Order: sequence, then structure tokens, then C-alpha cells
Amino acid sequence: MIAVLCGGVGAARLLRAWQERTSEELVGIVNVGDDTEMHGLNICPDLDSITYHLSGQHNEELGWGLRDESWRTMSRLELLGGETWFRLGDLDLATHLYRTGRLRAGATKSEVTREITARLGVTITLRPVSDDRLETRFATEIGELSFQEYFVRHRHSVPVQRIWFDGADRARPAPGVLDALRDARRVVVAPSNPLVSIDPLLEVTGVREVLSERGDAIAISPLIDGRALKGPADRLMRELGLEVNAVGVARHYAPWLGTMVIDHQDASLRSLVGATGCDVVVAGTLLDDPAQVDELVAAIG
Ligand code: GDP
Ligand code: CA
Repeated sequence: MIAVLCGGVGAARLLRAWQERTSEELVGIVNVGDDTEMHGLNICPDLDSITYHLSGQHNEELGWGLRDESWRTMSRLELLGGETWFRLGDLDLATHLYRTGRLRAGATKSEVTREITARLGVTITLRPVSDDRLETRFATEIGELSFQEYFVRHRHSVPVQRIWFDGADRARPAPGVLDALRDARRVVVAPSNPLVSIDPLLEVTGVREVLSERGDAIAISPLIDGRALKGPADRLMRELGLEVNAVGVARHYAPWLGTMVIDHQDASLRSLVGATGCDVVVAGTLLDDPAQVDELVAAIG
């Protein structure tokens, strides 16, 4: 079994590509720091992104949500004067209605995730890292913001001074999370945002400790040539004083990292990455290129 630490889209692409190339069981341990409540509905963006990708129903053009989506409910909500900055499509809403109903009835986030993925034919096991509250928060120039306020409402364009994870010190790992991390033949860190997708996972009791004990986790750099393919990873790293490239990512993960995978385009950084204390693998890391995925999976599988 291979355990993969997951944010949203970067992880979804990795899991989808990997699944096609292995018969080994894959278990995704998924960030919940982005989870939010809107209109009384419980929304888990990273779990849903991965689920939609793995069931082949994701919206490639938008980069989030479901394919063939429509927006009639949002139009109606706007007419009523409701808040519509966080867009929820008509089809996507069914996921949040289902989850919210089940949580109200006493089910855990883990149980609801199992139900939704089974219904949609997802064969990879997805586990929220915790069933407890864990909320990513931002201190910014314009005050304190929740994850979705920062990311969606302000389109991640407000300078960030600090990031923290509310509730993390009391968040227990969800059932099966630490066992998966201990028992896995390999632990892989997806090319997800280090500061807002991977860090919250590490804050959950026991996760960082298991990774440190193993010392062999393999991380794929989400930065290529010093840039994020999508989203604010590069910008946040700059604002929080990290070196904005694969070296900065490796240094950030150094206390528990075994191997860093960097892109061919970053081959010149090999020895600097190695100097942070990990092994270095240079491979193709563009996950929408099948030849690069073949090479990547061969290198770390
Ligand atoms: P989110 O939760 O949907 O914002 O996504 P993640 O945190 O999982 O991933 C965002 C990061 O994934 C960005 O920093 C991207 O650079 C990275 N990413 C997305 N696709 C790829 C890819 O094909 N290759 C690599 N190396 N990184 C990727
Ligand atoms: Ca996310």
C-alpha cells in the first residue's frame, strides 16, 4: 500500500495518474483545513476535488467543481440578496447537501467520505486527515481571513503575514490515518501547496511524528522553475520568507523528508536540494503529460 498526503488538485492529478499505472492499493490522506460552512452547508473542497477527479467528473476548464455544471441556484440566490462570492454549482450542491445531512445525523467526515466515494465508484481510499475541526487562518494586511475568504473572495491577492491552523492542537487523526502512514510501503507527499495543503496535515496529532520516525517520505515539488503551476504557493512562500523554489520546499520539509523529487527544469538545483539533507530524484513532474507520469511513477513507485 502507498499512502499519499494530499491537498486538492495537485494531489488529485497524482492519484489519478498513479492509479492507472499500479495494482497496489493507494490511500489518500486529505487536507481538511480548507473546509468551510456556507449557507449552513458543510463543504470539503479538497476531498471533493479529489473525488471528482477520480470519478472522471471534474471540470477541467474551471479547475474546480463538476463537469457540465449549471448555476441556476446561484442566480436565484443572488436575486434574493444572498452571498454568492463562493460559487456552488447546481450539481455540486448535491454533494454538500448529502454531506451536511449525514453529519447532522451523527456520521463522521470519514464515514461520509467513504459513502460518497463508494457511490461515485472511486476505488482509491480517501481519508480526511481528521474528523475534528481544523481551520486554516490567515493574518493579512486587511485583517484575519478564513481560507475561503483569502482564496476565493480576495482571489489570494492579499499579502499574508502569518498562517495558522485553528483547532489543530486538539485535532485527532481520523481512524486509519496513522496506521496507513505507519504500514505503507511508501509515503508520498503530493505536489500540493506546502503551506496551506500539506502543513495542516502535519499539525494533526501524530502525523509529523510518524513521518519523522520513518524518515523516508518522498515529496514531489509543486514548484517548477520557482513557480506554482496554479494557485498561490509561490506567492505565499515569498511572503512568508521561504526560498521560492524546490530548495525552499525541501528545507521546509527537512525535519522528516527522505527524498525530494524535482522537475527536469530544476536539475541545476540538485545539489542545493540535497544540501537540505534529503536524497534527490530528478524526473518529469508535469502530471498532465503521460510520458512524464510514466517516468515519475517508475522513479518513485
Ligand atoms: P488546491 O488545494 O486545489 O489548491 O491544490 P493543491 O494544494 O493540491 O495543489 C496546488 C499546487 O499543485 C500548486 O502549487 C501547483 O503548482 C501544484 N501542481 C498542480 N499540478 C501539478 C503538476 O502537474 N505537477 C507539479 N509538479 N505540481 C502541480
Ligand atoms: Ca485546497
